[in-house]
Amino acid sequence: AADKIDTIVSLSKRRGFVYPCSEIYGGQRAAWDYGPLGVELKENIKRQWWRYMVTAREDVVGLDSSVILATEVWQASGHVATFTDPLTECTSCHKRFRADHLEEAFEEKKGRLPENGLADINCPNCGTKGAFTEPKQFSGLLSTHLGPTQDSGSVAYLRPETAQGIFTNFSQVQTTSRRKPPFGIAQMGKSFRNEITPGNFIFRTREFEQMEMEFFVKPGEDEKWHEYWMEQRWNWYTGLGMSEENMRWYEHPAEKLSHYSKRTADIEYRFRFGGSEWGELEGVANRTDYDLGAHAKASGQDLSYFDQEKGERYTPYVIEPAAGVGRTMLAFMLDSYVEDEAPNAKGKMEKRTVMRFDHRIAPVKVAVLPLSRNPELSPKAKGLAAALRQNWNIEFDDAGAIGRRYRRQDEIGTPFCVTVDFDTLDDNAVTVRERDSMKQERVSLDQIEGYLAARLVG
Ligand code: ATP
Repeated sequence: AADKIDTIVSLSKRRGFVYPCSEIYGGQRAAWDYGPLGVELKENIKRQWWRYMVTAREDVVGLDSSVILATEVWQASGHVATFTDPLTECTSCHKRFRADHLEEAFEEKKGRLPENGLADINCPNCGTKGAFTEPKQFSGLLSTHLGPTQDSGSVAYLRPETAQGIFTNFSQVQTTSRRKPPFGIAQMGKSFRNEITPGNFIFRTREFEQMEMEFFVKPGEDEKWHEYWMEQRWNWYTGLGMSEENMRWYEHPAEKLSHYSKRTADIEYRFRFGGSEWGELEGVANRTDYDLGAHAKASGQDLSYFDQEKGERYTPYVIEPAAGVGRTMLAFMLDSYVEDEAPNAKGKMEKRTVMRFDHRIAPVKVAVLPLSRNPELSPKAKGLAAALRQNWNIEFDDAGAIGRRYRRQDEIGTPFCVTVDFDTLDDNAVTVRERDSMKQERVSLDQIEGYLAARLVG
């Protein structure tokens, strides 16, 4: 339900996943900071993406280009001219909207596009029908000035996508890494967009992180590779435990494609925001030879590829899976959140909240819990935590009743709790409790590391 998102927002703040940005000054609208658990979750997601998309493959290499590129890059790529959103305002309540978002919400609800455009649409804020102004194009580029003067000559853009840094480095990477199409270049990093209507928590912000990969192929083989990457990307999410009932494909209609795209299909997730059920998680686009072609033309550099074996020269086509880190993290949080029941100290069943994160993305892997604060148990437990910390992110907690400490770990998705109790002093063993089944197992201290390593793969 829609309130699940509110639950996640409050859990995020309470437990240190995500805080409102600049909150001591009342907050900066629609900007967020990632706390100790959030940064772990986010980095784990990025690591899994990098592993799956780059290091586990022989045909993809990585790159980390600048955020601010030469202004000519954004002129040649078409962003200065066409990276715009249609802005409209309700003449009744004066709230601003993106016209395309209003139409998409209408389509989602009614299953068809509005015949008369905005005239058919009720204002989501005040309900007035068809009271929108003619949409005006509004640039999505955020700009800054480089150097001591602030004139038009010093304007620079913060990248709205990481992809262009890949295109400008295409020939360098291709020759230095000795690759030939089909091959890909991947990059993760911050992007910036002057969104008209940021919101829905970390779903849409003006500063965000992307994970993008440009896969260069021979023209004519692009459609096949597009299908291939669509399948790979779907499998990445499901492989990390995302449920398929909450995922779907959205095929962009031809008339709504971006200026560079031949075909784009989005993976959508059922975020269940107030206004709309589904939201884009990532786009998989066939960018054709648009970008390399445009940069070759504008820079005067040859960005084609020469296949020596076949003696043919071509400008590669590009398939691009482009995902957002924040959206992915939010989707995994929503998808992992479960309320079930666990027995309390007296054996009575009580509600518990559990984040069933895949082990690979869980922010804390193991919690070490001495049964009570005790001069013998505590040092033993601290020593164990210190040893395990060499391999994993560990929490040590000796405050309060053991049941409450289990609950705290369940709520942040810690896969294993290791309890050091009085028996440990005799048998040199600890109790390991697994998060989802709540099953407990006695494991000897000299085997605990191997036990956890076997279960915390990846
Ligand atoms: P939308 O239609 O939601 O504005 P888009 O189609 O413009 O998204 P792309 O240009 O395809 O998005 O960007 C690729 C990915 O980057 C998106 O699928 C999303 O995960 C992420 N992304 C884009 N804009 C934002 C944003 N403002 N905040 C957070 N993530 C974003």
